Amino acid sequence: MSSEEVRMGCPECHGAAVKNGTIRGGQFMRCKECGHQFMADLERRRLPDEIVSIIKKLLALGVAPELISKAANISSRQAYNYKKQVVNG
Ligand SMILES: [Zn+2]
Repeated sequence: MSSEEVRMGCPECHGAAVKNGTIRGGQFMRCKECGHQFMADLERRRLPDEIVSIIKKLLALGVAPELISKAANISSRQAYNYKKQVVNG
C-alpha cells in the first residue's frame, strides 16, 4: 500500500480511495474504483470495533489521547471523545 492510500473506503462502492487534494480543514478523497469524490471526515471516520476496543483499553490504562491519535491515525479530538467515553463508563 502506498503512502497516498488510506484505509478509508469509498462511501459508494467501498473501494480503495486515494487523497485528492485538500481544502481548508479537510481532505478530499477520490475512489480508485468508481472515481467518486468525497470529503474525508476524520471526525466521523468509523473505526473497526476491535480497533476502538484497543484504543479504549489504552486510554483506560492511562495512555495519552495525543499518542493514541498518532498511533491510530485519528484526530486528537476523536481520541479525546473516546477518552470521555472511557471515563464515563
Ligand atoms: Zn467508489
